[in-house]
Amino acid sequence: MSKKTVRDIDVSHKRVLVRVDFNVPLSPDGKVLDDFRIRAALPTINYLIENNAKVILMTHLGRPKGRVVPNLRLDPVAKVLSELINRPVKKLDDCIGEEVKKEVFSMKDGDIVLLENLRFHKEEKENNPEFARELASLGEVYVDDAFATAHRIAASTVGVASYLPAVAGLLMEKEINALTKVLTAPEHPFVAVLGGAKVSDKIGVIQNLMNKVDAFLIGGGMCFTFLKAKGYKIGYSLCEDEKLSFAQELMKEAKEKGIKVILPADVVVTPEIKEGAPSKVVDIEEIPGDEIGVDIGPKTVEIFKNELSKAKTIVWNGPLGVFEIKQFAKGTYDIAEFIGTLEGVTAVAGGGETAAALRRFGADKKITHVSTGGGAFLKFLEGHSLPAIDVLEEK
Ligand code: ADP
Ligand code: MG
Repeated sequence: MSKKTVRDIDVSHKRVLVRVDFNVPLSPDGKVLDDFRIRAALPTINYLIENNAKVILMTHLGRPKGRVVPNLRLDPVAKVLSELINRPVKKLDDCIGEEVKKEVFSMKDGDIVLLENLRFHKEEKENNPEFARELASLGEVYVDDAFATAHRIAASTVGVASYLPAVAGLLMEKEINALTKVLTAPEHPFVAVLGGAKVSDKIGVIQNLMNKVDAFLIGGGMCFTFLKAKGYKIGYSLCEDEKLSFAQELMKEAKEKGIKVILPADVVVTPEIKEGAPSKVVDIEEIPGDEIGVDIGPKTVEIFKNELSKAKTIVWNGPLGVFEIKQFAKGTYDIAEFIGTLEGVTAVAGGGETAAALRRFGADKKITHVSTGGGAFLKFLEGHSLPAIDVLEEK
């Protein structure tokens, strides 16, 4: 990676302002439902502590829209972090101001402070320079470890870098390295697995991967737009009619370039997307006119596995079925399991729901890299540079 990281600078005895992404799901009674984003930041935090820094963490949580929303205070997050890192984490009640300064300036080496939800101030999302300067005044160095927020311009992700030396954290470094590797120097065969809800969300990704991959394996809701474009009847399955011509063009271009586009041969259909609804596997020629395709079928799983077994590089975005409902999760699960067993392959997966599915199946640990990014992961795969990465110092 061309960007400087925490390892390239001296952090000892310094107040290090770290942007993390602790935007975790909370239950109605304020419990952290999934701590993976907190865990993902531990290497950087531990590194800083081991190197005698004073660690000032900042994050957003939810969408408080510039107001103080008590349910979106970071106390539960601080508690989970403290448990995970086995040290006290002092959560402050604001992210700027005199009180905050007083606390931060009295920190000792190895102390951890978590500032209050950045989005309680509307200036955060506006990338207000004065607000950014206030945040920056708390630290002597700035570390960005919030890959999942790197596609957004905000005071804490872009603004602060104007006022402090700005470097990447270890998670940020890992994300950039993993994604850069698959995009710029993939070992072939390179196979892209694409699913998820909509074709329209993924057009940029498909276009950018078009010149890189050897095969697209398409499942999820988006496969039905492709199937319809090929003339199949898809019943009430998800379909974007305005994307039919895009799908046709894409398949034509792929054919000309010798890239395989593999669509399901069979799917699971149901009259209703709901737990316990009746469902069956049908060949794609036989999708009933009044049912919905909700998962790839077993023949398709075998076809996908066969293609994946030849791959040296795999990139995956989008669940292959409605995995939130157990009986429609099998396709996604089987493919996740299978990728996890492959050896000598670089497999990178990402997307909010994709990562959630992989974690639910316990497949995340068997895959080379599961990105913490949703939107940021997609933007990266589209080939765009991310504003919060752009502002970090070059080596
Ligand atoms: P990601 O967040 O990983 O980028 P998306 O947001 O594109 O993925 O899509 C995830 C959603 O796609 C999941 O909630 C899943 O239920 C849905 N999905 C997958 N397959 C289908 C399908 N056949 N019909 C409708 N929705 C689907
Ligand atoms: Mg999503």
